[in-house]
Amino acid sequence: MADKHWIVESLFESVGMRTSYEVERVLHETRTAHQHLVLFENKFFGKMLMLDGAVQITSRDAYVYQEMMSHVPLFAHGRAREVLIVGGGDCAIAEEVLKHRSVRRLTQVEIDAAVVEFAKEHFPEFTKPAFADPRFECVIGDGADYVAETDRRFDVIIVDSTDPQGPGALLFTREFYAGCKRCLAKGGVLVTQNGVPFFQADELVSSLAHFRALFADSTCYVAAVPTYIGGLMAIGFASDDKRLRRTSARTIAERYRRAGRFATHYWTPQLQVGAFALPRFIAELAAGKTA
Ligand code: SAM
Repeated sequence: MADKHWIVESLFESVGMRTSYEVERVLHETRTAHQHLVLFENKFFGKMLMLDGAVQITSRDAYVYQEMMSHVPLFAHGRAREVLIVGGGDCAIAEEVLKHRSVRRLTQVEIDAAVVEFAKEHFPEFTKPAFADPRFECVIGDGADYVAETDRRFDVIIVDSTDPQGPGALLFTREFYAGCKRCLAKGGVLVTQNGVPFFQADELVSSLAHFRALFADSTCYVAAVPTYIGGLMAIGFASDDKRLRRTSARTIAERYRRAGRFATHYWTPQLQVGAFALPRFIAELAAGKTA
């Protein structure tokens, strides 16, 4: 019997940990202008995309991250028209955002054209509905430059980036967050992929420290993504409108009803409120207490 082939996630090698996934088939592997990309099939998780040795998305658990990165800020804001996604290559979050009829225009700024082209071939479930929607535009470029230069203003900015390595490192800097603040409309909200605090505490401490310096209100909320190993992942949340993260479940449920109650698999109005109730160690990290 042929030897089984395993692919290793090397993201947490620095803490002495590796996660291996059995490979049924490698569907695509390449080194793009910005990063190493491999897509393979696993018998449990289905299609799995890794960039620079870190799992980005799998067919089996993508819905957790997608729904929490998109519906939480949009229902907290309640009347978002202009939305920006920084990163987001696979268009999974774009597909969720476009379920909100109130959204008039969605712009995605992705640095790596190869990731978008590859997603068109291998993740049509996300790219087809997104690119078929006249409200959607995908700009190839560095998100850090875009937020520093654009004259547009956004109600919601979603940073669906890789981890702070390679091209993604810039997206965790004070300059980048200040650029996001600059192009947020009044009462706008910023959410950011902020890793798994159990292993990536410094990332959260650093981002939230920047947020406290730039915004009137900042915190994070949490979600459990099975292939983002290490327990709860943190999603940064920042705004000058202190009411947004305190929006009641009743108000969110009413907004969800008006939005047509589209199907979700993880997100609910009650879960949105609960996601801001942080375990003590994450709350302390978010408040700046180092690990
Ligand atoms: N959900 C995934 C995660 O949490 O790890 C991220 C998904 S998405 C694939 C991340 C995208 O961010 C990639 O397509 C990558 O090319 C893009 N990206 C990284 N750095 C960027 C930058 N500076 N500007 C714009 N996009 C960037």
